[in-house]
Order: sequence, then structure tokens, then C-alpha cells
Amino acid sequence: MKWEDICTRCGLCCHEKVVLPDCLLIDMDAACSFYDRETGLCTVYEDRFNACPRCLKVTPLRAMAADYLPPSCAYVRWAERHHLRFARKREMVIKSG
Ligand code: SF4
Ligand code: SF4
Repeated sequence: MKWEDICTRCGLCCHEKVVLPDCLLIDMDAACSFYDRETGLCTVYEDRFNACPRCLKVTPLRAMAADYLPPSCAYVRWAERHHLRFARKREMVIKSG
């Protein structure tokens, strides 16, 4: 399986988030301008890092340590399965409406 195939396209990382000491707050009303709410997909996927400077590639290192990735993220799960997740565990709080 290719690294990019791990992503389940849940879209959570394409929304605004705030990392707090004990929780990760994700605002489902505030998505990246390139996120298509109908399909749940990125409209500039192949060129996303040029089109959107804030878009960060999920590398193995980020999967291991990035505190802004939701606990349900498939890359976080990958890191946990390999005992390689070092970021503090945070509850995910979804804000919507
Ligand atoms: S540019 Fe990045 S953050 Fe924006 S919708 Fe595409 S994948 Fe998500
Ligand atoms: S949170 Fe993880 S699984 Fe979901 S879209 Fe982002 S990278 Fe993919």
C-alpha cells in the first residue's frame, strides 16, 4: 500500500482546529477554501501544496508527532499501531452549527 493510500479522506484535517492542552477542537463550519463539502474531497489535490501554503503533507514524522492531527486520523492510527505516536493524547471535540 502506498503511503497516501492510508488516508481515509475523512476531511477532518481540512478544517480549522485549535490545539488545547487536553483537547483538539475542530470547527466543521470553517473549512479550507479548497475543500468541497459536497464530495468531502480536496479540489486541488494534486497541486495542494502549491495552491494552499497552509496545507501540510502528512509525513511519517508528522504522523508520529503532529498534535493537530485528530486521534481518528488513519496516519495517527498507523503510528499508534507501530508504537510510534509521541504526541499527547487529546480528546477530539467537533464544533458544528
Ligand atoms: S488544500 Fe489541503 S487543507 Fe485544503 S482541502 Fe486540500 S488537502 Fe485539505
Ligand atoms: S485527518 Fe488523516 S485520514 Fe483524515 S483526511 Fe486528514 S490525513 Fe486523511
